[in-house]
Amino acid sequence: MGADPQILAVQDHDADADRIRHEMSTLPELAERDAALARRAELSGRRLALEERRGPPQSELGRLDDEVALLRAKLEREETKLGSGHVTNARELTGLQAEVESLRRRIADLEDRELEAMEELESTQPELDALESELADVDASLAPIEERLQGALAALEAELDRTEAARSAAAEVVDAELLAKYERTRARSVNGIGAALLADGGCTGCHVKLAAGELVDAREADLARCPACEAILVIEEG
Ligand SMILES: [Zn+2]
Repeated sequence: MGADPQILAVQDHDADADRIRHEMSTLPELAERDAALARRAELSGRRLALEERRGPPQSELGRLDDEVALLRAKLEREETKLGSGHVTNARELTGLQAEVESLRRRIADLEDRELEAMEELESTQPELDALESELADVDASLAPIEERLQGALAALEAELDRTEAARSAAAEVVDAELLAKYERTRARSVNGIGAALLADGGCTGCHVKLAAGELVDAREADLARCPACEAILVIEEG
């Protein structure tokens, strides 16, 4: 005597649910999203390294700008004094002229260094621009991937809900003890099979043929099991 054939309906729904869950965890959009996120992480890392290289010339430029501004203000004061005609003492005039010359030289020197810092920054600007543009592209590509992923997941969720509802309905008409045995068997199995039809002398769960003696035992057992995969066997009448 085989098990109640209704258990096969439960098995079918469980197999469907397994397939749907597998599909949900292997959607191509998941791999696409992972690839885009990995690319973004790589580009962000390169941008960070580049920004670290650009840090010193950037702060150097800021410091030089401040210094030049101070010296220019001082130069302007000294030049105004010189042009005002108030300083008439020859020695004082010479001193003032020397100070103006000195300020101009210091400013020119600082401006040379500013130029060097600017050139250093400019040399890495194209690389920075390219990274920014690639990052923007990757970010822009993520939204449609995410949208497709969520759409595919929602469709599969709905399919899973319907399958689980059908499984519950099918399980309701199965003897509780048989159902519990089926669930334990399925949980232990490697292929998700807890119950299978014995057809043409073989288990449809693992496709192993039963020996003649095993077939006799299966037909006589209270609860037949496949000797190969241990699935509860439902035996076809006749
Ligand atoms: Zn089997």
